[in-house]
Amino acid sequence: MENNKKVVTLVYGCQMSERDAETLTEITRHFGYSPSDDIETADLVIVNTCCVRESAENKILGKIGELKKLKERNLDVKIAITGCMVQQPGALERLQKRAPHVDIWAGTHNLHDFSALLHRVEQGEKVAEVWQEPKATLEITPLAEKGKLHANVNIMYGCDNFCTYCIVPHVRGRERSRRPNEILQEIESLVDSGCREVTLLGQNVNSYGKEFSPAYDFADLLQQVNQIAFLLRIRFITSHPKDLSNKLIETVAEGEKLCEHFHLPIQSGSNFILERMNRKYTREYYLSRVKKIHKLIPNACVTTDIIVGFPGETEEDFEQTLAMMNQVHYSQAFTFMYSKRTGTLAAEMEDQIPLDVKKRRLQKLMSVQNQESLELRQQMIGKMVEVLVEGPSRTNPKRLTGRTRGNDLVVFVGNLETIGSLVNVRINEAGSWTLIGEVE
Ligand code: SF4
Repeated sequence: MENNKKVVTLVYGCQMSERDAETLTEITRHFGYSPSDDIETADLVIVNTCCVRESAENKILGKIGELKKLKERNLDVKIAITGCMVQQPGALERLQKRAPHVDIWAGTHNLHDFSALLHRVEQGEKVAEVWQEPKATLEITPLAEKGKLHANVNIMYGCDNFCTYCIVPHVRGRERSRRPNEILQEIESLVDSGCREVTLLGQNVNSYGKEFSPAYDFADLLQQVNQIAFLLRIRFITSHPKDLSNKLIETVAEGEKLCEHFHLPIQSGSNFILERMNRKYTREYYLSRVKKIHKLIPNACVTTDIIVGFPGETEEDFEQTLAMMNQVHYSQAFTFMYSKRTGTLAAEMEDQIPLDVKKRRLQKLMSVQNQESLELRQQMIGKMVEVLVEGPSRTNPKRLTGRTRGNDLVVFVGNLETIGSLVNVRINEAGSWTLIGEVE
Protein backbone atom coordinates (compact mmCIF):
# COMPACT_ATOMS: atom_id res chain seq x y z
CA MET A 1 0.00 0.00 0.00
CA GLU A 2 1.26 3.49 -0.92
CA ASN A 3 1.81 5.53 2.21
CA ASN A 4 2.24 9.04 0.91
CA LYS A 5 -1.26 9.70 -0.40
CA LYS A 6 -3.00 12.89 0.69
CA VAL A 7 -6.63 13.42 1.67
CA VAL A 8 -8.31 16.82 1.94
CA THR A 9 -11.56 16.77 3.93
CA LEU A 10 -13.95 19.69 3.56
CA VAL A 11 -16.77 20.01 6.10
CA TYR A 12 -20.04 21.89 5.96
CA GLY A 13 -22.57 22.14 8.77
CA CYS A 14 -22.74 21.35 12.46
CA GLN A 15 -20.42 19.60 14.93
CA MET A 16 -22.04 16.26 14.05
CA SER A 17 -20.90 16.82 10.49
CA GLU A 18 -17.41 17.76 11.73
CA ARG A 19 -17.26 14.60 13.81
CA ASP A 20 -18.37 12.49 10.84
CA ALA A 21 -15.67 14.13 8.72
CA GLU A 22 -13.04 13.27 11.36
CA THR A 23 -14.24 9.67 11.28
CA LEU A 24 -13.94 9.57 7.47
CA THR A 25 -10.45 11.08 7.57
CA GLU A 26 -9.44 8.49 10.16
CA ILE A 27 -10.78 5.66 7.97
CA THR A 28 -8.62 6.87 5.05
CA ARG A 29 -5.47 6.50 7.21
CA HIS A 30 -5.93 2.75 6.95
CA PHE A 31 -5.57 3.16 3.18
CA GLY A 32 -2.30 5.08 3.54
CA TYR A 33 -3.74 8.61 3.30
CA SER A 34 -2.56 11.45 5.50
CA PRO A 35 -4.56 14.66 6.00
CA SER A 36 -3.62 17.73 3.95
CA ASP A 37 -4.97 21.22 3.24
CA ASP A 38 -3.65 21.41 -0.33
CA ILE A 39 -6.40 20.45 -2.71
CA GLU A 40 -4.14 20.72 -5.79
CA THR A 41 -1.88 17.87 -4.64
CA ALA A 42 -4.63 15.75 -3.03
CA ASP A 43 -5.22 12.13 -4.06
CA LEU A 44 -8.64 12.11 -2.42
CA VAL A 45 -11.03 14.98 -1.65
CA ILE A 46 -13.94 14.31 0.70
CA VAL A 47 -16.77 16.83 0.98
CA ASN A 48 -18.96 16.06 4.00
CA THR A 49 -22.16 17.93 3.31
CA CYS A 50 -24.98 19.68 5.14
CA CYS A 51 -28.54 20.30 4.00
CA VAL A 52 -29.96 22.25 6.94
CA ARG A 53 -30.11 25.52 4.98
CA GLU A 54 -30.40 26.35 1.32
CA SER A 55 -27.38 28.69 1.53
CA ALA A 56 -25.16 25.78 2.70
CA GLU A 57 -26.43 23.59 -0.13
CA ASN A 58 -25.68 26.27 -2.70
CA LYS A 59 -22.13 26.65 -1.39
CA ILE A 60 -21.61 22.89 -1.57
CA LEU A 61 -22.95 22.70 -5.13
CA GLY A 62 -20.48 25.44 -6.04
CA LYS A 63 -17.64 23.44 -4.46
CA ILE A 64 -18.68 20.26 -6.30
CA GLY A 65 -18.55 22.29 -9.53
CA GLU A 66 -15.02 23.51 -8.68
CA LEU A 67 -13.93 19.92 -8.09
CA LYS A 68 -14.90 19.08 -11.67
CA LYS A 69 -12.17 21.46 -12.81
CA LEU A 70 -9.73 19.83 -10.37
CA LYS A 71 -10.56 16.43 -11.89
CA GLU A 72 -9.93 17.83 -15.38
CA ARG A 73 -6.45 18.96 -14.24
CA ASN A 74 -5.74 15.74 -12.36
CA LEU A 75 -7.54 12.63 -13.64
CA ASP A 76 -6.22 10.50 -10.77
CA VAL A 77 -7.79 12.46 -7.91
CA LYS A 78 -10.76 10.69 -6.30
CA ILE A 79 -13.73 12.72 -5.13
CA ALA A 80 -16.13 11.64 -2.40
CA ILE A 81 -19.36 13.47 -1.53
CA THR A 82 -20.84 12.28 1.74
CA GLY A 83 -23.33 13.16 4.48
CA CYS A 84 -26.70 14.85 4.87
CA MET A 85 -27.16 16.34 1.42
CA VAL A 86 -26.68 12.94 -0.22
CA GLN A 87 -29.02 11.29 2.29
CA GLN A 88 -32.04 13.47 1.41
CA PRO A 89 -34.83 11.50 -0.26
CA GLY A 90 -34.37 11.60 -4.06
CA ALA A 91 -31.14 13.65 -3.85
CA LEU A 92 -28.67 11.02 -5.05
CA GLU A 93 -30.03 10.71 -8.59
CA ARG A 94 -30.26 14.49 -8.99
CA LEU A 95 -26.69 14.99 -7.68
CA GLN A 96 -25.23 12.17 -9.77
CA LYS A 97 -26.66 13.70 -12.96
CA ARG A 98 -25.21 17.06 -12.03
CA ALA A 99 -21.78 15.75 -11.01
CA PRO A 100 -20.68 12.64 -12.94
CA HIS A 101 -17.06 13.39 -11.96
CA VAL A 102 -17.69 12.23 -8.37
CA ASP A 103 -16.27 8.78 -7.47
CA ILE A 104 -18.00 8.07 -4.13
CA TRP A 105 -21.47 9.05 -2.97
CA ALA A 106 -22.34 8.02 0.59
CA GLY A 107 -25.25 9.04 2.85
CA THR A 108 -25.12 9.63 6.60
CA HIS A 109 -26.15 6.04 7.31
CA ASN A 110 -23.24 4.66 5.25
CA LEU A 111 -20.30 6.56 6.66
CA HIS A 112 -18.88 3.68 8.64
CA ASP A 113 -18.98 1.58 5.49
CA PHE A 114 -16.68 4.13 3.85
CA SER A 115 -13.66 1.81 3.90
CA ALA A 116 -15.50 -0.73 1.71
CA LEU A 117 -16.53 2.05 -0.67
CA LEU A 118 -13.01 3.49 -0.82
CA HIS A 119 -11.60 0.02 -1.47
CA ARG A 120 -13.90 -0.39 -4.48
CA VAL A 121 -12.99 3.06 -5.80
CA GLU A 122 -9.30 2.26 -5.51
CA GLN A 123 -10.01 -0.75 -7.74
CA GLY A 124 -11.36 1.64 -10.39
CA GLU A 125 -15.12 1.57 -9.66
CA LYS A 126 -17.46 4.50 -9.08
CA VAL A 127 -19.75 3.84 -6.13
CA ALA A 128 -22.97 5.21 -4.63
CA GLU A 129 -24.52 3.88 -1.40
CA VAL A 130 -27.37 5.55 0.43
CA TRP A 131 -29.06 3.25 2.91
CA GLN A 132 -32.57 4.29 3.80
CA GLU A 133 -32.20 3.15 7.41
CA PRO A 134 -29.20 3.33 9.74
CA LYS A 135 -27.51 0.12 10.87
CA ALA A 136 -26.86 1.11 14.47
CA THR A 137 -24.00 -1.26 15.17
CA LEU A 138 -21.95 0.26 12.35
CA GLU A 139 -22.33 3.74 13.86
CA ILE A 140 -20.25 2.81 16.87
CA THR A 141 -16.65 3.22 15.85
CA PRO A 142 -14.69 5.21 18.42
CA LEU A 143 -11.57 6.71 16.89
CA ALA A 144 -8.90 8.41 18.97
CA GLU A 145 -7.59 11.80 17.83
CA LYS A 146 -3.97 12.00 18.84
CA GLY A 147 -2.66 15.03 20.73
CA LYS A 148 -5.75 17.22 20.41
CA LEU A 149 -6.78 19.26 23.44
CA HIS A 150 -10.45 19.22 22.53
CA ALA A 151 -12.57 16.49 20.95
CA ASN A 152 -16.19 16.06 19.94
CA VAL A 153 -17.73 12.76 21.00
CA ASN A 154 -21.02 11.51 19.58
CA ILE A 155 -23.22 10.07 22.28
CA MET A 156 -26.26 9.52 20.10
CA TYR A 157 -27.42 9.80 16.53
CA GLY A 158 -30.60 11.00 14.87
CA CYS A 159 -33.62 12.81 16.25
CA ASP A 160 -37.23 11.91 17.07
CA ASN A 161 -38.64 15.41 17.29
CA PHE A 162 -39.71 16.35 13.78
CA CYS A 163 -39.66 20.10 14.19
CA THR A 164 -41.59 21.15 11.09
CA TYR A 165 -38.71 23.16 9.57
CA CYS A 166 -35.98 20.58 10.12
CA ILE A 167 -34.56 18.03 7.71
CA VAL A 168 -32.40 16.26 10.33
CA PRO A 169 -34.79 13.41 11.27
CA HIS A 170 -35.19 12.75 7.54
CA VAL A 171 -31.44 12.44 6.91
CA ARG A 172 -30.05 11.18 10.22
CA GLY A 173 -32.88 8.84 11.18
CA ARG A 174 -34.49 8.15 14.56
CA GLU A 175 -32.64 8.55 17.86
CA ARG A 176 -30.09 5.88 18.75
CA SER A 177 -27.96 6.25 21.90
CA ARG A 178 -24.49 4.75 22.13
CA ARG A 179 -23.87 2.48 25.14
CA PRO A 180 -22.29 4.34 28.08
CA ASN A 181 -19.27 2.01 28.33
CA GLU A 182 -18.37 2.66 24.68
CA ILE A 183 -18.57 6.43 25.20
CA LEU A 184 -16.53 6.24 28.41
CA GLN A 185 -13.87 4.09 26.73
CA GLU A 186 -13.64 6.50 23.82
CA ILE A 187 -13.17 9.46 26.15
CA GLU A 188 -10.57 7.60 28.24
CA SER A 189 -8.61 6.82 25.10
CA LEU A 190 -8.86 10.47 23.97
CA VAL A 191 -7.57 11.59 27.37
CA ASP A 192 -4.67 9.11 27.09
CA SER A 193 -3.69 10.78 23.82
CA GLY A 194 -3.71 14.29 25.33
CA CYS A 195 -7.33 15.47 25.14
CA ARG A 196 -8.45 17.60 28.11
CA GLU A 197 -11.90 18.80 27.05
CA VAL A 198 -14.74 16.93 25.38
CA THR A 199 -18.00 18.10 23.89
CA LEU A 200 -20.68 15.42 23.99
CA LEU A 201 -22.76 15.65 20.84
CA GLY A 202 -26.32 14.79 20.01
CA GLN A 203 -29.24 16.51 18.28
CA ASN A 204 -30.99 16.33 21.65
CA VAL A 205 -28.62 15.12 24.36
CA ASN A 206 -31.35 15.53 26.97
CA SER A 207 -33.17 12.49 25.67
CA TYR A 208 -30.01 10.34 25.69
CA GLY A 209 -30.67 6.76 26.84
CA LYS A 210 -34.45 6.93 26.71
CA GLU A 211 -34.47 3.43 25.20
CA PHE A 212 -32.20 1.95 27.91
CA SER A 213 -33.36 -0.55 30.50
CA PRO A 214 -32.51 -0.35 33.36
CA ALA A 215 -32.97 3.41 33.22
CA TYR A 216 -29.83 5.43 32.54
CA ASP A 217 -30.06 9.01 31.30
CA PHE A 218 -27.84 11.87 30.19
CA ALA A 219 -27.29 13.11 33.74
CA ASP A 220 -26.07 9.61 34.70
CA LEU A 221 -23.65 9.67 31.78
CA LEU A 222 -22.35 13.13 32.74
CA GLN A 223 -21.75 11.95 36.30
CA GLN A 224 -19.61 9.09 34.99
CA VAL A 225 -17.69 11.23 32.49
CA ASN A 226 -17.02 13.67 35.33
CA GLN A 227 -15.07 10.88 37.11
CA ILE A 228 -12.53 10.40 34.28
CA ALA A 229 -9.05 11.26 35.54
CA PHE A 230 -7.06 14.01 33.76
CA LEU A 231 -10.09 15.18 31.81
CA LEU A 232 -10.53 18.86 32.74
CA ARG A 233 -13.77 19.95 31.12
CA ILE A 234 -17.00 18.57 29.72
CA ARG A 235 -19.38 20.41 27.41
CA PHE A 236 -22.50 19.20 25.63
CA ILE A 237 -24.79 20.25 22.81
CA THR A 238 -27.68 20.44 21.96
CA SER A 239 -30.27 20.59 24.75
CA HIS A 240 -33.89 20.52 23.65
CA PRO A 241 -35.74 22.76 26.16
CA LYS A 242 -38.67 20.35 26.49
CA ASP A 243 -36.37 17.60 27.81
CA LEU A 244 -34.15 19.67 30.12
CA SER A 245 -34.70 17.93 33.46
CA ASN A 246 -34.07 19.26 36.96
CA LYS A 247 -31.77 16.27 37.47
CA LEU A 248 -29.59 17.43 34.58
CA ILE A 249 -29.38 21.02 35.85
CA GLU A 250 -28.51 19.72 39.33
CA THR A 251 -25.84 17.45 37.85
CA VAL A 252 -24.22 20.36 36.00
CA ALA A 253 -24.38 22.44 39.18
CA GLU A 254 -22.51 19.74 41.11
CA GLY A 255 -20.06 18.34 38.54
CA GLU A 256 -16.69 19.99 38.94
CA LYS A 257 -15.69 19.42 35.28
CA LEU A 258 -19.10 20.19 33.81
CA CYS A 259 -19.05 23.61 32.16
CA GLU A 260 -21.95 25.85 33.18
CA HIS A 261 -23.05 26.43 29.62
CA PHE A 262 -26.46 25.48 28.23
CA HIS A 263 -27.09 25.77 24.51
CA LEU A 264 -30.87 25.92 24.62
CA PRO A 265 -32.41 26.75 21.22
CA ILE A 266 -35.55 28.85 21.65
CA GLN A 267 -36.15 29.25 17.86
CA SER A 268 -39.03 31.72 18.42
CA GLY A 269 -40.45 33.72 21.33
CA SER A 270 -44.02 33.36 20.07
CA ASN A 271 -46.20 30.49 21.29
CA PHE A 272 -48.10 30.55 18.00
CA ILE A 273 -44.89 30.03 16.01
CA LEU A 274 -43.49 27.49 18.49
CA GLU A 275 -46.61 25.42 17.98
CA ARG A 276 -46.32 25.65 14.19
CA MET A 277 -42.69 24.60 14.55
CA ASN A 278 -43.79 21.58 16.65
CA ARG A 279 -41.27 22.53 19.34
CA LYS A 280 -43.50 21.11 22.13
CA TYR A 281 -42.83 23.88 24.68
CA THR A 282 -44.18 27.36 25.31
CA ARG A 283 -42.23 30.55 25.96
CA GLU A 284 -43.40 30.34 29.60
CA TYR A 285 -42.05 26.82 30.00
CA TYR A 286 -38.78 27.83 28.37
CA LEU A 287 -38.42 30.78 30.74
CA SER A 288 -39.13 28.51 33.71
CA ARG A 289 -36.19 26.29 32.60
CA VAL A 290 -33.87 29.28 32.30
CA LYS A 291 -34.99 30.46 35.73
CA LYS A 292 -34.19 27.04 37.19
CA ILE A 293 -30.73 27.10 35.59
CA HIS A 294 -29.95 30.52 37.07
CA LYS A 295 -31.35 29.55 40.47
CA LEU A 296 -29.03 26.53 40.78
CA ILE A 297 -26.12 27.96 38.76
CA PRO A 298 -26.12 31.78 39.04
CA ASN A 299 -23.12 32.21 36.72
CA ALA A 300 -24.44 29.86 33.98
CA CYS A 301 -24.23 30.97 30.35
CA VAL A 302 -27.21 30.36 28.12
CA THR A 303 -26.85 30.48 24.34
CA THR A 304 -29.50 29.85 21.73
CA ASP A 305 -30.58 29.41 18.11
CA ILE A 306 -33.30 31.60 16.62
CA ILE A 307 -35.09 31.37 13.29
CA VAL A 308 -36.74 34.50 11.87
CA GLY A 309 -39.33 34.54 9.12
CA PHE A 310 -40.88 31.14 9.85
CA PRO A 311 -44.10 30.79 7.78
CA GLY A 312 -46.88 32.86 9.36
CA GLU A 313 -44.57 34.93 11.60
CA THR A 314 -46.19 38.35 12.14
CA GLU A 315 -44.47 41.51 13.37
CA GLU A 316 -46.03 40.78 16.75
CA ASP A 317 -44.57 37.26 16.83
CA PHE A 318 -41.19 38.71 15.94
CA GLU A 319 -41.50 41.33 18.72
CA GLN A 320 -42.05 38.46 21.16
CA THR A 321 -38.77 36.91 20.04
CA LEU A 322 -36.99 40.22 20.66
CA ALA A 323 -38.65 40.43 24.08
CA MET A 324 -37.38 36.94 24.87
CA MET A 325 -33.83 38.02 24.09
CA ASN A 326 -34.14 40.92 26.49
CA GLN A 327 -35.51 38.62 29.19
CA VAL A 328 -33.00 35.79 28.94
CA HIS A 329 -29.82 37.81 28.18
CA TYR A 330 -28.22 35.21 25.94
CA SER A 331 -24.45 35.36 25.87
CA GLN A 332 -24.63 34.30 22.23
CA ALA A 333 -27.42 33.66 19.73
CA PHE A 334 -27.03 31.88 16.40
CA THR A 335 -29.62 33.59 14.24
CA PHE A 336 -30.95 32.34 10.90
CA MET A 337 -33.52 33.24 8.29
CA TYR A 338 -36.04 30.46 7.79
CA SER A 339 -35.01 28.37 4.80
CA LYS A 340 -37.46 26.02 3.03
CA ARG A 341 -36.33 22.38 3.09
CA THR A 342 -38.08 20.03 0.70
CA GLY A 343 -39.63 17.12 2.55
CA THR A 344 -40.46 19.11 5.70
CA LEU A 345 -43.95 20.20 6.75
CA ALA A 346 -43.04 23.89 6.97
CA ALA A 347 -42.00 23.92 3.31
CA GLU A 348 -45.64 23.19 2.42
CA MET A 349 -47.08 25.96 4.64
CA GLU A 350 -48.78 28.67 2.64
CA ASP A 351 -47.92 31.88 4.45
CA GLN A 352 -44.19 32.01 3.58
CA ILE A 353 -42.49 35.28 4.54
CA PRO A 354 -40.92 37.45 1.80
CA LEU A 355 -37.12 37.54 1.72
CA ASP A 356 -36.87 41.31 2.38
CA VAL A 357 -38.94 40.93 5.57
CA LYS A 358 -36.78 38.00 6.74
CA LYS A 359 -33.62 40.01 6.07
CA ARG A 360 -34.90 43.04 7.99
CA ARG A 361 -35.87 40.90 10.99
CA LEU A 362 -32.54 39.10 10.94
CA GLN A 363 -30.64 42.42 10.95
CA LYS A 364 -32.68 43.65 13.91
CA LEU A 365 -32.13 40.42 15.81
CA MET A 366 -28.40 40.51 15.21
CA SER A 367 -28.05 44.10 16.37
CA VAL A 368 -30.03 43.37 19.57
CA GLN A 369 -27.87 40.31 20.26
CA ASN A 370 -24.59 42.13 19.54
CA GLN A 371 -25.55 44.75 22.10
CA GLU A 372 -26.57 42.07 24.66
CA SER A 373 -23.32 40.17 24.10
CA LEU A 374 -21.24 43.32 24.50
CA GLU A 375 -23.00 44.31 27.74
CA LEU A 376 -22.66 40.82 29.23
CA ARG A 377 -18.97 40.64 28.40
CA GLN A 378 -18.28 44.14 29.66
CA GLN A 379 -19.72 43.06 33.01
CA MET A 380 -16.77 40.65 33.18
CA ILE A 381 -14.14 43.39 33.22
CA GLY A 382 -12.17 43.18 36.48
CA LYS A 383 -13.33 39.59 37.17
CA MET A 384 -11.21 36.43 37.30
CA VAL A 385 -12.19 33.63 34.92
CA GLU A 386 -10.94 30.07 34.55
CA VAL A 387 -9.43 29.47 31.10
CA LEU A 388 -8.27 26.24 29.46
CA VAL A 389 -5.15 27.37 27.61
CA GLU A 390 -5.22 26.31 23.95
CA GLY A 391 -2.07 27.94 22.52
CA PRO A 392 -0.78 31.15 20.92
CA SER A 393 -3.48 33.48 19.61
CA ARG A 394 -3.80 33.41 15.81
CA THR A 395 -4.24 37.19 15.63
CA ASN A 396 -1.51 38.01 18.15
CA PRO A 397 1.07 35.19 18.52
CA LYS A 398 2.67 36.96 21.50
CA ARG A 399 -0.50 36.25 23.46
CA LEU A 400 -2.24 33.04 24.41
CA THR A 401 -5.81 32.05 23.76
CA GLY A 402 -8.32 29.79 25.45
CA ARG A 403 -11.94 29.55 26.52
CA THR A 404 -13.84 30.23 29.71
CA ARG A 405 -16.23 27.69 31.20
CA GLY A 406 -19.01 29.65 29.46
CA ASN A 407 -17.17 29.10 26.14
CA ASP A 408 -16.07 32.75 25.71
CA LEU A 409 -12.84 33.25 23.80
CA VAL A 410 -10.11 34.92 25.88
CA VAL A 411 -6.85 36.39 24.54
CA PHE A 412 -4.35 36.98 27.32
CA VAL A 413 -0.77 37.49 28.41
CA GLY A 414 0.51 34.22 29.84
CA ASN A 415 3.09 31.48 29.82
CA LEU A 416 3.46 28.99 26.92
CA GLU A 417 4.13 26.24 29.44
CA THR A 418 0.53 26.44 30.63
CA ILE A 419 -0.88 25.17 27.29
CA GLY A 420 -3.27 22.32 28.07
CA SER A 421 -3.91 23.40 31.66
CA LEU A 422 -6.37 25.62 33.51
CA VAL A 423 -5.28 29.13 34.52
CA ASN A 424 -7.05 32.06 36.15
CA VAL A 425 -7.16 35.17 33.98
CA ARG A 426 -8.16 38.68 35.04
CA ILE A 427 -10.30 40.34 32.34
CA ASN A 428 -9.20 43.87 31.40
CA GLU A 429 -11.13 44.53 28.20
CA ALA A 430 -14.18 43.11 26.47
CA GLY A 431 -15.68 43.16 22.99
CA SER A 432 -18.90 41.48 21.82
CA TRP A 433 -17.11 38.18 21.16
CA THR A 434 -13.68 38.28 22.82
CA LEU A 435 -12.29 38.97 26.28
CA ILE A 436 -8.77 40.34 26.80
CA GLY A 437 -6.83 39.78 30.01
CA GLU A 438 -3.76 38.58 31.83
CA VAL A 439 -2.85 35.67 34.08
CA GLU A 440 -2.58 36.64 37.75
S1 SF4 B 1 -34.85 18.79 17.76
FE1 SF4 B 1 -35.93 19.66 15.99
S2 SF4 B 1 -34.45 21.12 15.17
FE2 SF4 B 1 -33.29 19.75 16.48
S3 SF4 B 1 -32.55 18.14 15.11
FE3 SF4 B 1 -34.46 17.41 16.00
S4 SF4 B 1 -36.04 17.97 14.51
FE4 SF4 B 1 -34.21 19.18 14.03
